[in-house]
Amino acid sequence: MINIGLIAHDGKKPEMVSFVLGNKTFLSKTKIYATGTTGGHIAKEGFDVECLLSGPKGGDAQIAALLATGYIDVVIFFRDPLDKHPHEPDVQMLMRLCDVHNIPLATNPKTAYYILKGIEAEMIREAKIRK
Ligand code: PGA
Repeated sequence: MINIGLIAHDGKKPEMVSFVLGNKTFLSKTKIYATGTTGGHIAKEGFDVECLLSGPKGGDAQIAALLATGYIDVVIFFRDPLDKHPHEPDVQMLMRLCDVHNIPLATNPKTAYYILKGIEAEMIREAKIRK
C-alpha cells in the first residue's frame, strides 16, 4: 500500500480537490495523510483521510516527520508561489527532508500526475513479476 501525504496552500485547495477527484481510482487504494484543512476538503469528497494539524500549526512538520520515519512514500504539496506563508520554515524543512530521504515530491498538478502514473506503472510491473 502506498502512503501519500497531501498538502495544499489556501490558494491551491481547489486545485487539490480537482486533482484528487481526477485520480480517485488510484488514490482510493492509498493511505492518505493530509494537513488539517486540506484533509477536511478531501474527506468531504468521500476519501478516507488521516487529518493532521493544520499546516501553520505544525501539519507540514508532521508530514515531514512521517516521511523521515518511513511512513510516507510520496508527497503532493500544491504550494502557492504568489502568497506569503507564516510557516515557510516548515515548508522548506519538509522539502529538504524529501530530498534527504529520496521521497518523490510534486509541487504542482502536472508533476503530481506524472508521479502517480509512474507509481502505477511500477505497481503493474511488480505485479507481473510476482505472477
Ligand atoms: P492546511 O495546511 O491544509 O491546514 O491549510 C496547508 C499549509 O498551509 O501548509
